[in-house]
Amino acid sequence: MIIRAILVTIFSISLLFAVPLVTTASQVKTESGMAQKLAVLVDKAEFNSFHAVALQAGYQALNQLGHPDAKNLLVVTNAGYAKVDDQSSAPCLDALTAVTGCTVGKGNLLTVHSAAFTPLYFFVYDSLSGRAAYLEVDKNTKIGGTSFTQMLDKKDLFAYQAVETIMASKLIANPEIWDKKLKNRIFNGREFSLVSIANLWTDKAPADLMQAALFHDHFCPGVTAGYYLAKFLLDKYPLADNQSYHIIASPAWCKDDALQVMLNCTVGKGNMVVYPLADTDKQYLLPEAKDAAGINFVKNTGIYFMYNKKAKTGKGVVLGFDWDKLCKESGISFGREYPWRDNLQCDLWMNRHSNDYARYVTVIKEFELEQGSAPGDYIGPSINPWKKLDLWQNK
Ligand SMILES: [Zn+2]
Repeated sequence: MIIRAILVTIFSISLLFAVPLVTTASQVKTESGMAQKLAVLVDKAEFNSFHAVALQAGYQALNQLGHPDAKNLLVVTNAGYAKVDDQSSAPCLDALTAVTGCTVGKGNLLTVHSAAFTPLYFFVYDSLSGRAAYLEVDKNTKIGGTSFTQMLDKKDLFAYQAVETIMASKLIANPEIWDKKLKNRIFNGREFSLVSIANLWTDKAPADLMQAALFHDHFCPGVTAGYYLAKFLLDKYPLADNQSYHIIASPAWCKDDALQVMLNCTVGKGNMVVYPLADTDKQYLLPEAKDAAGINFVKNTGIYFMYNKKAKTGKGVVLGFDWDKLCKESGISFGREYPWRDNLQCDLWMNRHSNDYARYVTVIKEFELEQGSAPGDYIGPSINPWKKLDLWQNK
């Protein structure tokens, strides 16, 4: 009896609190409810149709997910990159914060690098239930030139909508189910991107690794290998005064997007230059470099310079990535029935072992730059950097 009385009391108290604590559908849905939330962040005079689109998306997603606890929520979108009617979709980000409580600063509102012509999409994930809602705006929808109120009332705004369980443990345990959904493009082709980002976020991937993956537009073992390489360089080959990093990416693969983000060496600024190596070229690498080039994987990563532009001095290092060791130690092999599962498992493993980055990076060669020479002297239309570094067979 006493226990029953206590339970009844707890239940009554919880009822008292349940109403004000939980935002009900009707509270959010009313135009004034949504507008009130947005008005905390944006001057009412500046409300526009993009705000309304994202409010609708956020509201519908939360509704579809059964209004999950805000502390388990992640929002992923290409708002800010995608343009509609030649206008920036950036205002959507404030509206998403207003309706979901997720913010850029808390790291639970993530923007994925996209081309401006990509359809605008929203993805809301509840990490507790493992369920996610995907909403993609119909390309034919006119957003520019429509008022906030008109857009808030607009029906059939979304061309694609799906709610799916995407928790890694469930996908890995029953790969055939997810594989079917993947083939049916349930998130209109963005399945791997969104699933990998959501699961690595849940797995507490560090902010800088997350930034690299968002620039690359997905997580994959390759981009995480770039993260390992950047950490290795920063730790083992730190810059001396007035030095900067210069990279010859050879061959280029996913790693180079992480290196661009982590070291701010970019193709545009010229401190990252790409020297392609086809499979047929790799036979000419000397064994010590070829060893790292592998057969199944591209293993050699490139040539890294620590260079003082003023004094024209510096040194360099050729680095490889030991995929064989990583596969052996993680127990993950690639090329099995479900490539997405191999990738996802490897991403999670690499995230959990990212402090062991130095175990998987190999030093192929270290060298000093001749006084007066520059990283640019190692590559050009007629300069093969591998030949220049005596790592190429003279054929
Ligand atoms: Zn990749």
